[in-house]
Amino acid sequence: MKAGRLKKRLEIEKMMGVDALMKRAGPEAELRRVEEEVRTCTRCRLHEGRTQTVFARGNPRAPLLFIGEAPGEEEDRQGLPFVGPAGKLLDRMIFAMGLKSDQVYITNIIKSRPPNNREPRPAEVAACFPFLERQIELVRPRIICTLGRPAANTLLGTNLAMGDLRGKWQSYRGIPVLPTYHPAYLLRSPGQKRTAWEDLKKLIIALAEGPPEPAGLF
Ligand code: URA
Repeated sequence: MKAGRLKKRLEIEKMMGVDALMKRAGPEAELRRVEEEVRTCTRCRLHEGRTQTVFARGNPRAPLLFIGEAPGEEEDRQGLPFVGPAGKLLDRMIFAMGLKSDQVYITNIIKSRPPNNREPRPAEVAACFPFLERQIELVRPRIICTLGRPAANTLLGTNLAMGDLRGKWQSYRGIPVLPTYHPAYLLRSPGQKRTAWEDLKKLIIALAEGPPEPAGLF
């Protein structure tokens, strides 16, 4: 192809966003490598009791990333996050937001099930967090929604009560973060679903129009 025509074609491709698509190629392959590392990970003792690791589900190019706490019994059995009762509610929340399953990516701060679903210990979170960091780097979501207190405090490096966290925009490495209630909590306290819906509406607006500036926690 002559230089002039090639230049013209590159200009047209740029205009159509093709170069952006090309640059985005690749998160799947690298994510598979991270997933393989997770699968064989023995950095903490949770590997002793797990059936299998639980990495993620959804679309790695999705604009919205949900981060939960840790796999439960059903997740440990199936190897996928949020496939038990809390996951069914999360799916209904996503559907209520007008989103499809391929418009979200879902993972947890911990990739192995803690015994009896206890809260992950700080050492376990610290051991697993680098995997989450790499997932976020690769997925590059436009918006992150954390589910429950451990996920929010881990990502934001805080130690706050859910009441202080939920519904307030924060930021993780420049990515807007909105903490909301964990669906397992909403199953136990259905009266809070109305409040959670206020948070989900913020996500819908942010996806359409962009999030407001973080208000700050204090
Ligand atoms: N609760 C979580 O936090 N994550 C899951 O994957 C399932 C239940």
